[in-house]
Amino acid sequence: MTTAVVVGGGPNGLAAALHLARNGVEVTVLEAADEVGGGSRSGELTEPGLIHDHCAAFHPLAMGSPFWRSVGLESYGLTWCLPEIDCAHPLDDGTAGLLYRSIDRTADGLGPDGLRWRLALGDLARGFDELGEDLLRPVVHLPRHPLRLAAFGPRAVLPATVMARWFRTDRGRALFAGIAAHAFTRLDRPLTASLGMMIAASGHRHGWPVARGGSGAIGTAAAAAIGDHGGKIETGTLVSARSDIPSADLVLLDLSPAQALSIYGDQMPARVRRALQRYRVGSSAFKVDYALDGDIPWTTPDCGRAGTVHLGGDASEVWHTERQRAAGIMVDRPFVLLGQQYLADRSRSRGGLNPIYAYAHVPRGYDGDATDAVTAQIERFAPGFRDRIVTVRSTGTRQLQSYNPNFALGDIIGGANDGLQMLARPRLSANPYALGVDGVYLCSQSTPPGAGVHGLCGYHAASAALASLRRRR
Ligand SMILES: Cc1cc2nc3c(=O)[nH]c(=O)nc-3n(C[C@H](O)[C@H](O)[C@H](O)COP(=O)(O)OP(=O)(O)OC[C@H]3O[C@@H](n4cnc5c(N)ncnc54)[C@H](O)[C@@H]3O)c2cc1C
Repeated sequence: MTTAVVVGGGPNGLAAALHLARNGVEVTVLEAADEVGGGSRSGELTEPGLIHDHCAAFHPLAMGSPFWRSVGLESYGLTWCLPEIDCAHPLDDGTAGLLYRSIDRTADGLGPDGLRWRLALGDLARGFDELGEDLLRPVVHLPRHPLRLAAFGPRAVLPATVMARWFRTDRGRALFAGIAAHAFTRLDRPLTASLGMMIAASGHRHGWPVARGGSGAIGTAAAAAIGDHGGKIETGTLVSARSDIPSADLVLLDLSPAQALSIYGDQMPARVRRALQRYRVGSSAFKVDYALDGDIPWTTPDCGRAGTVHLGGDASEVWHTERQRAAGIMVDRPFVLLGQQYLADRSRSRGGLNPIYAYAHVPRGYDGDATDAVTAQIERFAPGFRDRIVTVRSTGTRQLQSYNPNFALGDIIGGANDGLQMLARPRLSANPYALGVDGVYLCSQSTPPGAGVHGLCGYHAASAALASLRRRR
């Protein structure tokens, strides 16, 4: 029987292990932490009984992932919960851009920009699954839906700053800018519009759901599916060297390129080693979790019905903030992504005490304390927020790295999202998963299609490993 070891039990490691196990491979997952899930774990962080997502919180990519759908994580106990409004972007004048799952409702709320929102995103939302078949895989491949790709191309290559000019109102522009900021890079760079549009379209196709009981439920369900197919998981097992990995036909690494280099670098062909050495770490996040007495007192009441709230002011402020951050400057008012998962999933609260999730975009490796800046940014759009805080817990960039060695310097997306890395990670190749070492593959978010809890990096890496095994036999 073919054997495999998967190092790292994040969403991609679990997906890789599951795909291999479903194909008759005897799989063992080695996970450093005490539980699997990687960037999709959750639990108490502030007060007993309050469930916070440690990292990933909103899951259009997991809910819509063709791989997770083929597994049926729902039959292993996962339940998706949708907030009434996917995302709100409040402005200082008390108005807000609102993203609903329904494109009609979103367009109605955007007034003069309604038609423009529909024209920019309607076809993407309708063709989201087909486009995903081409975009959620390595860039070097034979297109499956060339017409859809051709229609998307002219908009996709634009910088988000240019695409946003299509909208006429502050609300429309700001809503788009906040969503594009998920690219976590300078937004005046080519291709950044593509990420904004795909993330907005994912909201219209699937909504931005949360997992009932916390994002940890995703890893728990995946681990149960692996067990069902005979796979084993060993937690509390840090792999630092090749000698820590039991002998197997296949080894899949749910690790950063830097970790892969430190374990297999001496065996890699020079061109692969050089590509991994050149690979650049991405931007950093500074996370703040609050236990709040009651709800956030938003100036704009609609924000109190939204799962995600983007706090960054108008579009020009978002562009400026992200440019400064990329230049290594910590601004007073950073872009903050705030989560009110409890609105969709009441099981996360205790009585009137609610868990609030927030993280700020900060310069790479920022080692200051951004807690006050995050709190002030919330207070700006919700005066009185500070008075309702019962407990606050901050996780800086260094702590993110100790929590998960893949999040080097607090980089939560597995590598800079710019230049060639935006299209091809960790290197330009039809098989970017192969490390040039017999039977060894990279399967983390530093491979296509990149960050998110979709498990597709793991699935594609495991498929590449199985295909090469078949060719060898
Ligand atoms: C604050 C934050 C917010 C986010 N928000 C979202 C969101 O809302 N939606 C979304 O889709 N994504 C979000 N993400 C991104 C998402 O978490 C990642 O894209 C995803 O977790 C990547 O999965 P992965 O399997 O590639 O790697 P990881 O999740 O990093 O998993 C890797 C696993 O390997 C283990 N490991 C690392 N090194 C070793 C070693 N040497 N030996 C053994 N085990 C090891 C780690 O403990 C971890 O369990 C967020 C991330 C963060 C940090």
